[in-house]
Amino acid sequence: MATMQAMVLDAPRAALVLRERPRPMPGAGEILIKVSSCGVCRTDLHIVDGELEHPKLPIVPGHEIVGRVAVLGTGVTGFSLGERVGVPWLGATCGICPYCRSDAENLCDAPVFTGYTRDGGYATHVAADARFCFPLGETGDDGEIAPWLCAGLIGWRSYRMAGEGKTLGLYGFGAAAHILAQIANWQGRSVFAFTRKGDKAAQDFARSLGAAWAGSSDELPPEPLDAAIIFAPVGALVPAALKAVKKGGRVVCGGIHMSDIPSFPYALLWEERRVQSVANLTREDAREFLAIAPKATLHCEVTRYPLASANEALSDLREGRLRGAAVLIP
Ligand SMILES: [Zn+2]
Ligand SMILES: [Zn+2]
Repeated sequence: MATMQAMVLDAPRAALVLRERPRPMPGAGEILIKVSSCGVCRTDLHIVDGELEHPKLPIVPGHEIVGRVAVLGTGVTGFSLGERVGVPWLGATCGICPYCRSDAENLCDAPVFTGYTRDGGYATHVAADARFCFPLGETGDDGEIAPWLCAGLIGWRSYRMAGEGKTLGLYGFGAAAHILAQIANWQGRSVFAFTRKGDKAAQDFARSLGAAWAGSSDELPPEPLDAAIIFAPVGALVPAALKAVKKGGRVVCGGIHMSDIPSFPYALLWEERRVQSVANLTREDAREFLAIAPKATLHCEVTRYPLASANEALSDLREGRLRGAAVLIP
């Protein structure tokens, strides 16, 4: 029997373990992918740290997957053997709930999530529902493209929710923010980057990607913002960002988990400021982003780790030791 290598989480707060497993056979409508790169997302950290409850256990994390089609399941159309494809967080939807039927499949009542409720890409191989995979073409490096599959796609959804304003704040300058800063620049918007207090390296990094200003998240920007997107999982940033946006401004929370939001005076929300979360992604978000990314000539800053070093990559992300995104190379 053909086998594969995978980094497996047996229980929350345990280290991932490298295991040899039978290689999955794709079911009807699925494809088997030989993984070439898998990005490490903050959501993986929330799963490993037990902050996101009820994962399928044991689970292979990873939902920023780039690889090539190795086996086509029955009934799959639109993909060919050897084609480069991407697999995102949204692994499947029910197709029949009120959300699925109203162009809001990101809110599906019975979704499947890659690397959370079905095995993901911290492995040499992964099976995926072909309807939720995307052709990636042949342009660009696999490792640099991997972060597009979540940081890019959910970042893009957050960016759209933030509206058309010219001044945009980004709280937490990690994988998603470093992609959005480039898109915002390309569209002629001004980016204001907020990092942990004193994180000069992250602030320099933001400036090097065209940020008009970079500072600590407890500072106010030099001018009021039209909108802010919060990627850091810190609830206290919600009132901080409300303080930084102008009348009618939007504050978008782009992450799946956050610490509690402290109480704050109503005056911060007054004048039609809005706070909104972004949940998951739709396939339409992905099609839009994948069309825009090459035009914006995105460059992803990635640190590559061998698959067996997934625990080290997660620790580096947890401790803020990364610049850009971590990517596992099986
Ligand atoms: Zn549904
Ligand atoms: Zn993610």
